[in-house]
Amino acid sequence: MNSDETQGNGRVALVTGASRGIGAAVAQRLLDRGYRVAATSRSGHAPQGALAIEADVTDPSHVDAAFARVEQEYGPVEVLVSNAGVTKDTLLVRMTDEDWSGVIDTNLTGSFLVVRRAARSMMRKRFGRIVLIGSVVAGLGSPGQVNYAASKAGLIGVARSVARELGGRGVTCNVVAPGFIATDMTRELGDELRAEYLRRIPAGRLGEVDDVANAVEFLCADASGYLTGAVLPVDGGMGMGR
Ligand code: NDP
Repeated sequence: MNSDETQGNGRVALVTGASRGIGAAVAQRLLDRGYRVAATSRSGHAPQGALAIEADVTDPSHVDAAFARVEQEYGPVEVLVSNAGVTKDTLLVRMTDEDWSGVIDTNLTGSFLVVRRAARSMMRKRFGRIVLIGSVVAGLGSPGQVNYAASKAGLIGVARSVARELGGRGVTCNVVAPGFIATDMTRELGDELRAEYLRRIPAGRLGEVDDVANAVEFLCADASGYLTGAVLPVDGGMGMGR
């Protein structure tokens, strides 16, 4: 094992929404760095080597059962990456109550549920790293994404409040705010919209899931203990200053 692979020191990490896309890349990265990783999603798919757990983040009993399983297999969760997220895009006047609550329930309430469940043992251990996957649209706004942008903006309030509550206990809480990352979530966008986004990205390309995994890995490290309540953009410069 080289020094890179021992960075995680066998710490126990839980990544939600780790069946594909950004979550799977984050779980894989933490595995590569020597963390013991539990990967949760509704489908239960997970990178090889992770503890695969079926759990819907909108259901408190699923969340509790997932954490109990990790505690049984690996011990208390020390690193939490709340990544599970959905979109339900449509213009404001057409947005139904269900479009709104479905996105808020998964992205915002789901994050609240996993953070709350993780906090107690982190406080007891006087160590914890919590990373919430937000979005550049929290600051920019986005037509057709009132529900999604609100859910991601809400995560900043969650992270900064948790950072204040738990800072003295060695627990950090930060947001990683990706821009436009090539995953299933963005594959559906038409060519025109894709070209429009590209014009707005100083880096001149879409992001890769590994770009996000780099930032998450950094915030999860033991050495990042003095970095909390931050919003770290991974957007090729798209949201500068927001
Ligand atoms: P994907 O659609 O590729 O993956 C979403 C993941 O979330 C899947 O693993 C899915 O698994 C899981 N998931 C969805 N709903 C639930 C639920 N209720 N309970 C548990 N797991 C759930 O999305 P991305 O990888 O692109 O996005 C990951 C995160 O990054 C999201 O929070 C997204 O908002 C954010 N983001 C993405 C950007 C992008 O450009 N791609 C930009 C900015 C932010 P399953 O279906 O098996 O449950």
